[in-house]
Amino acid sequence: MSMLDVTGLNAHYGDSHILFDVALRVDRNEVVALLGRNGAGKSTMLKSLMGVVKPSSGSILFDGEQIAGRKSHTIARAGMQLVHEDRRIFGSLNVEENLVLAGLTAKGRWPLDRVYEIFPRLKERRTSRGTDLSGGEQQMLAIGRALVRDPKIILLDEPFEGLAPVIVQDLVRTCRELAMAGQTIILVEQNIAAALTLATRAYIINNGHIAHEGPTGE
Ligand code: ATP
Ligand code: MG
Repeated sequence: MSMLDVTGLNAHYGDSHILFDVALRVDRNEVVALLGRNGAGKSTMLKSLMGVVKPSSGSILFDGEQIAGRKSHTIARAGMQLVHEDRRIFGSLNVEENLVLAGLTAKGRWPLDRVYEIFPRLKERRTSRGTDLSGGEQQMLAIGRALVRDPKIILLDEPFEGLAPVIVQDLVRTCRELAMAGQTIILVEQNIAAALTLATRAYIINNGHIAHEGPTGE
């Protein structure tokens, strides 16, 4: 059984129909890329999975459990984490407080040291406030906040956007380490080269329709 099995998923914003009959599956330990143009519906797809956008119809089986229509905090508790396009961290709290707070409500919880092992930069900046971090550091913190909750699956919405190539390299390496450690990931990314070095399978979404699905391997 796939970890995530989506069928017949439709989503609307008011009268606008955004996702059309989407089918998608993700197996355990898989990194799946979701690619497509601006406005194709990638973020809406991740938000629908996470319950931030309520799907108008369809089935979302997560670890055998029907989560379509559930609230996002319930879905989070079931083991899904979304790292949004706009890096959501607490600007007034420092790095360590951000991480501790994220872990508080989680069942599974990573020790902070494990996050700091993956992101040594965050350890150096542990007492810096969120607003004082660079874009790349904020992105690492947003991912760290998701990891600290030990999710079964992590949904990354354009994690490399706006980052210097050298930071992207670091983050790609980190994501690859996570994947090798068995972390299941859905990756939405405009940086196709980076996405394809990480993902074993990709979906292309076009105007809210899945246009293509296939392996990314050579
Ligand atoms: P990008 O690559 O630019 O992030 P995307 O593939 O993530 O694009 P979505 O954000 O899912 O695209 O948007 C899909 C469509 O839904 C777009 O036409 C967008 O304008 C519309 N849309 C997104 N959010 C809302 C909203 N809150 N209310 C109304 N329409 C929305
Ligand atoms: Mg988007």
